[in-house]
Amino acid sequence: MQPFDYLKVGSQAAALEAARRGGRFIAGGTCLVDLMREEVERPATLIDISALQMREIVATGRGGLRIGALVTMAAAAADPHIRTSYPLISEALELSASAQLRNMATIGGNVLQRTRCTYFRDLSAACNKRAPGSGCAAREGYNRSHAILGTSAECVATHPSDLAVALAALDAVIHLVSGSGSRRVAITDFLIRPGSAPEREHALRDAELITAVEVPALPRPVRSGYLKVRDRQSYEFALASAAVALATRDGVIRAARVAAGGVGTVPWRLHAVEQRLVGGWPSAQLWRFAAECAADGAEPLRHNAFKVDLLRRTVERQLRIVGQP
Ligand code: SF4
Repeated sequence: MQPFDYLKVGSQAAALEAARRGGRFIAGGTCLVDLMREEVERPATLIDISALQMREIVATGRGGLRIGALVTMAAAAADPHIRTSYPLISEALELSASAQLRNMATIGGNVLQRTRCTYFRDLSAACNKRAPGSGCAAREGYNRSHAILGTSAECVATHPSDLAVALAALDAVIHLVSGSGSRRVAITDFLIRPGSAPEREHALRDAELITAVEVPALPRPVRSGYLKVRDRQSYEFALASAAVALATRDGVIRAARVAAGGVGTVPWRLHAVEQRLVGGWPSAQLWRFAAECAADGAEPLRHNAFKVDLLRRTVERQLRIVGQP
């Protein structure tokens, strides 16, 4: 690990001022410290923001929920309001990482976590995300776990967060602050497909800080959940996942939110699936019909063509679980 300066700040103003002079924010450190050990990341200064007051989960006046950026994954997963109103969030969190990591990692950091592409972490491999212009070892290498949606010639890495998939399904908004003021960005705009610049993964500006994630109210009554398919049943990233929320009234689906993980370079919202669901009557036929288009536009690589069918079956299964109690 390269030497670095460490600065602990006690206020948001101090954090932003320190960031303006250069440095990286750190809170739980569960992603960044790993990458520093492997020398994939080499920040000159770490700005420890863990003492800031961003650990609240509060109801918004609009019937939604605001989750502070420093709320830990474990605290969010256990929160009674989240468990009751947004079970897809608590399930996505509980299916992530390990208990030890969930006790340390924060909601803001979870959204910003970097890809688990093995070539990204191997300094001897070509990787446009780590070293722009060097190539992509995964394209012709072993790419079983890589993306089939949203890829580019430059990068095919998946976004690793389960939480971000649930947040994409829920139309969540990221709250940001910098020296020039605050702003809000939809999570589906905040996380960026690789295109020709895979080193740019999100819309965070220099010296800008995530303060919270806001989840809007859902139509009621609603049922929701998160399904994660992986090679082993704990401490593993998704091969495919599905976040589903269905609002049903008088036996008809009035609103549907569906997003997929483990298959896209960003959390993948499935609007075509949603359109097939709305106005329909819950049935095995409807789940199958809707899920048929889940992988539309997929471009499988040499080792991950199985994800096309896996994605369709994962979405269909989760629609059945959520839609037919
Ligand atoms: Fe790097 Fe992306 Fe290629 Fe992986 S897929 S080697 S992260 S450029």
